[in-house]
Amino acid sequence: MGEKYADIIVDISHDKVDRPFRYRIPRELEDKVIPGVRVHVPFGKGNKELTGYVVDLADSADYPAEKIKDISCIDEKDTTVEGDLVQTAYWMKSHYGSTMIMALKTVLPVKQKFKQLEKKKVLRLINRSEIEKLIPECERRHQTAKVRVLTALLDDEILPYALIKEKLNVSPSTLASLEKQGIISIETESYYRNPVRQISQRETAKPLSDGQRHIIEDVIKDYCAGNTGTYLIHGITGSGKTEVYIGIIEQMIKKGKQAIVLIPEIALTYQTLLRFYKRFGDRVSVMNSSLSMGEKYDQMERARKGELDVIIGPRSALFTPFPNLGIIIIDEEHENSYKSESMPKYHARETAIRIAAVKGASVVLGSATPSMEAYYRAAKGEYKLYKLNERLTGGHLPKVYTIDLREELKEGNRSIFSRKLKELIEMRLFSGEQTMLFLNRRGYAGFISCRACGFVMKCPHCDVSLSEHRNGRLVCHYCGYEVMKPEKCPECGSKYLMGFRAGTEQIEEAVHKEFPTARVLRMDADSTRSKESYEKILSAFADGKADILVGTQMIVKGHDFPNVTLVGILAADLSLNQNDYRAGERTFQLLTQAAGRAGRGDKPGEVVIQTYQPEHYSIVHAARQDYESFYEEEIVYRELLQYPPAAHMLAVLVISKAEEDGKYVTDCFAEYIKQQIDQVDELNKISKLDKSKDIDTKTFYIIGPTQAYVSKINDLYRHIIYFKHTDYEKLVWIKDMLETYTKEQNFKYQSIQYDFDPMNVY
Ligand code: ADP
Ligand code: ZN
Ligand code: ZN
Repeated sequence: MGEKYADIIVDISHDKVDRPFRYRIPRELEDKVIPGVRVHVPFGKGNKELTGYVVDLADSADYPAEKIKDISCIDEKDTTVEGDLVQTAYWMKSHYGSTMIMALKTVLPVKQKFKQLEKKKVLRLINRSEIEKLIPECERRHQTAKVRVLTALLDDEILPYALIKEKLNVSPSTLASLEKQGIISIETESYYRNPVRQISQRETAKPLSDGQRHIIEDVIKDYCAGNTGTYLIHGITGSGKTEVYIGIIEQMIKKGKQAIVLIPEIALTYQTLLRFYKRFGDRVSVMNSSLSMGEKYDQMERARKGELDVIIGPRSALFTPFPNLGIIIIDEEHENSYKSESMPKYHARETAIRIAAVKGASVVLGSATPSMEAYYRAAKGEYKLYKLNERLTGGHLPKVYTIDLREELKEGNRSIFSRKLKELIEMRLFSGEQTMLFLNRRGYAGFISCRACGFVMKCPHCDVSLSEHRNGRLVCHYCGYEVMKPEKCPECGSKYLMGFRAGTEQIEEAVHKEFPTARVLRMDADSTRSKESYEKILSAFADGKADILVGTQMIVKGHDFPNVTLVGILAADLSLNQNDYRAGERTFQLLTQAAGRAGRGDKPGEVVIQTYQPEHYSIVHAARQDYESFYEEEIVYRELLQYPPAAHMLAVLVISKAEEDGKYVTDCFAEYIKQQIDQVDELNKISKLDKSKDIDTKTFYIIGPTQAYVSKINDLYRHIIYFKHTDYEKLVWIKDMLETYTKEQNFKYQSIQYDFDPMNVY
């Protein structure tokens, strides 16, 4: 047996991870030295004894072996928060493929001095009843802005200045005048540092429904019995999931445990945060992209020191260094943003489950439209499944009309509004209710369909739609299959075979033309460069400043609009014909969410789904808000074609300066892996002895190599190859082999990226 070595970081901080030092592992410690373990090492000229963390293991010395020092001993103290994070990073590196340095940079907070970000807030100086007396007085004087401020201050003694200024549209001079009158005072303070001191009015728990109580008790009972696990709450929006999260957290806090709550960034609204603040006071904090690096670091420090019980944030909040983590909650677990787009391309759900296992915590997932992955695991009994079917706020399920756009064309209607949708919009304009028009631009991938019969040009090998390229070629971006665009529809012979090309701007124009009196707001990636403009448009719409809101999938999330009684989905097929195996799932989720926007208030809502494929199961089941039936059909498709979650998939993306280099690398990869599989196959035949190396080669699939869907970005070429297997570890085996193989070869490339169970096509 050769010597073993370990890479050790002596100062565990983000900017030092680039500099691990290699040490020899004394034989007697070999079993104990694993990534995450804290050790003592002699350091520098004077061999000063320092504590460090093992971040990786190695079989060889990186410089003359006689100069390499030995690890002195293992630090006997219990595992530390840092040790856990290093262990998590190591797992991410092995599980998702990246360097250890990239993985460490993902989990460790950036160390930076806290720079106070100043935020102003408005404090009410007089009591509630005095305010109540003031309001009519101001009304009499037509001081409407003052009325708005005072009304807002009825419930909350302290409110963020920005909220009052922007959301309530109150000028600084009005606030200054109120301050002069001694009614309010304006103070400057860091808003997030202690987000809660300003919300003096605390709220206690509502009486829970039986369904809610059952979930909380069950999760806590399991936890107390040492049976930590993963739970999936499938409950429509408004069914009380958030109350369940809060209930579980309350119990955890009583046990001295902490909680991490993941919420997609786009849904991290003030209203959502307020609910947590009101219940947990200043023991809760938030992480989001609007915090400075310093502020983020500060929240991490507060968590580490035990000053916090709850952290709320997007994906990265997962790495909050809580000393006694009890629960990780992932709301809207189906959201794509839970998957990292940079290396390591980790998924927050799997990583949460891994972190929870290390820390002895449980994981609760919640969604109105669970991901296929989560529901599949629940169906297999790996997660415990709960359902919440009632909407606790009342409101009615909307009435849904599915409109066949082929029929509209037959009847001579070439406009983007079906006759039904037009009629219902007119009714809303007349009654002063609001309409949302939803266009799923994301699906705009140049797919080709027949306007007369709905036929979609698909790849005969992959069952995904072909994408139109210039010069009339139709290409499959999974396998590279190509065909010239036919003149006529192969199905019905019509000449209306074309891509759907309308964007939100064209729709806005069409609305102006068709409904000249309507006030229209538009929201898409172009109109919302910043988070503030996003909030601004939504608040304007909530305040009734427009009759119709036109937008992309951004408008289907978050905010409640009680006055919206009509939702129009202009072309449901757009997301259906993405060249992607997740297209059906994404369409179902978007349609269900969009439809759920109608009729949130007291008035019943209506939904119009316009489509060329009214018979498609994603559309049929979304129209009925029937998740289970959708799942049943979708999982058959995934199983048949061995797509996740039925099998696992590894995408290997090779980025190169010259097109032929990337093509060469991916060709070599395919050839090399085929050889390796054949070898294993031979070995299996010769000897059945070593079962540990037994690989079921028959269930390996190699797809490609081919050009990526976006074949060139910034003058860099992208080639892709996919591997599929039911056993995730087999794909890790392939990744490891390719990593080693790449090191041995003299390939020319910019970067090679691994992506397990990718969310998007490459
Ligand atoms: P979800 O997270 O599933 O969308 P929420 O927890 O936000 O659901 O609950 C939706 C609404 O119902 C909220 O306004 C909440 O205050 C209210 N609510 C939740 N639980 C109860 C309950 N047990 N009794 C009455 N109202 C409730
Ligand atoms: Zn194909
Ligand atoms: Zn046709």
